[in-house]
Amino acid sequence: MRALRVIAPFTIEIAELADLIPGADQLLVSVERAGICGTDVELYSGDMAYYESGRTTYPVQIGHEWTGIVSGVGTGVSRSWLGKRVTGDTMLGCGLCTRCASGRTHICDQRIEIGITDGWGGGLAEQILIPERYAFVIPESISIAAAAMIEPAGNSLRTVEATGLVDHQKLLILGLGTIGLLAAQFARAKNIEVHVAGERESSLNFARELGIMHTHTIADIQESTGSGFDAVIDASSSDFMPNLALQRVLPGGKVVLIGLSGTPSLIDTRVQVLKDVTVVGILSASPGLRGAINYFASGAVNPEPLISEVIGLRDVANRLAGNRGIEAGPGPKIHVDPRIL
Ligand SMILES: [Zn+2]
Ligand SMILES: [Zn+2]
Repeated sequence: MRALRVIAPFTIEIAELADLIPGADQLLVSVERAGICGTDVELYSGDMAYYESGRTTYPVQIGHEWTGIVSGVGTGVSRSWLGKRVTGDTMLGCGLCTRCASGRTHICDQRIEIGITDGWGGGLAEQILIPERYAFVIPESISIAAAAMIEPAGNSLRTVEATGLVDHQKLLILGLGTIGLLAAQFARAKNIEVHVAGERESSLNFARELGIMHTHTIADIQESTGSGFDAVIDASSSDFMPNLALQRVLPGGKVVLIGLSGTPSLIDTRVQVLKDVTVVGILSASPGLRGAINYFASGAVNPEPLISEVIGLRDVANRLAGNRGIEAGPGPKIHVDPRIL
């Protein structure tokens, strides 16, 4: 099978590897679509912290947002899986520790992250393996494109749920990448009053095209003396945004952090204490995958406008280097069809 691998910083190869054989309790999936995201950019550039800690070593077969058709099953797995369209969790727990036992496999210390750590190949390949218990069947009503958005969507849904907001409360989302925009879509579906803020006018225009009416520049938010927001989500990658979130949240509100910056983000905890603010960190989509599937299946949220283009494996290095396709649309998400060279 053909697979794309990062073999050194800024260096990619498209390798011809042996076909995968599903082990016990595993599904073999023929990948039809995979997304690339900021984590993949870090794995490409070598900035990913897991290289330093030794959790990730080259070569890395990237791709943790994927969908495909089950084409094989290992021992112990029902053949009824064959032909089903699936996606899978990224975070595979050890299954033995107390966190795994409580269902929180995504924060298992021994976890494998597909396409990120420990040599478990990701979805920028013709085939991928997924343990049966981490696989999700995709309902008919969800397109291939949307199915490959379930992983980022699971992250975004978790951020919105962590705000605890209900009808018509005010939410501010900082950062207009895929995670921020999907969070805005979920929040709107929950009748929350959604405000978004970003640096670039083109991103703000795109948010308005998606139907998100309250858009602000970051400078507007920094200078605002208005009443503030019931909750603020930081989905940016800027080190000053968590503190900005804390400044703009109302007393008793929630700040939800999912963005990661290259340098430590400093916040003034006195503000947090004196405003009685709860700050929540979100790692991974895992507990949000089922909910994201339900939102997509019902049509309450449609992620397809966020996809700017679908490319083959050969164009991935160019996009990871930060380029946009000549015919790419305005959305932030790039998809790959790994069947296309
Ligand atoms: Zn991702
Ligand atoms: Zn565990």
